[in-house]
Amino acid sequence: MFSKLLQTLRCALPAACIVCQQASGRDYSLCEDCELALPKLGECCQRCGVELKGRLSYESLCSSCLLSAPTFDSCRAAFPYASPINKLVGSFKFSARFDIGYSLSRVLSKAFNTHYSGTGKPQLLLPVPLHTKRLRTRGFNQSNEICRVLSSHCGVTTAYSVLKKIRSTKAQTSMNSADARKSNLRGAFALSPAEALKDISHIALVDDVVNTMATSEAISRLISAQQDCQIDVWCLARASR
Ligand SMILES: [Zn+2]
Ligand SMILES: [Zn+2]
Repeated sequence: MFSKLLQTLRCALPAACIVCQQASGRDYSLCEDCELALPKLGECCQRCGVELKGRLSYESLCSSCLLSAPTFDSCRAAFPYASPINKLVGSFKFSARFDIGYSLSRVLSKAFNTHYSGTGKPQLLLPVPLHTKRLRTRGFNQSNEICRVLSSHCGVTTAYSVLKKIRSTKAQTSMNSADARKSNLRGAFALSPAEALKDISHIALVDDVVNTMATSEAISRLISAQQDCQIDVWCLARASR
């Protein structure tokens, strides 16, 4: 009841910018000047989306993708995982600041529409799921919230319950090797029902932050093992290695 009232009040008030706190003058809480001033990604690897920052690359592929490409086809982000984006994403996730999540997702939806202009958009959005234990403590799945915005502003349906996290895992950030991160996620995800994506040939997997790619990779392997499918990963922020 109280949260409903709070939500109604929030909607009735002019949206204060999540960066400068002034009235944003728009239908989301990020004023034009602050949106323009937020950090931007430079040239990125065409495959894994990591910023190249002048590092060795060949035909816009980073050295790791040249050695061993990920299972997914591409990874795109609205922002680099840098200040103030890291703090903003943290407030969205850990302090339930839905105004922040919504506003950053609106910027992501613009990038999404621009990327697919002239080419076919994915048929379905798949949010990276949380295990029920984590969902209970956080109260919401941040990827679902991002998908809600992408669906309404990009016109692509979200399948909210097809992909499930069936095993609770340790935080990926606590693992200090690629092998440990990989085995931490072994058997952690499942498609339910298993044939849910059988007529789908192009999917966008949506996450808040992509860092080591272990999660995107584990889910992409699960999907690719079942069918031939283009998998594009989309996130609010891409961390550099
Ligand atoms: Zn502002
Ligand atoms: Zn790469």
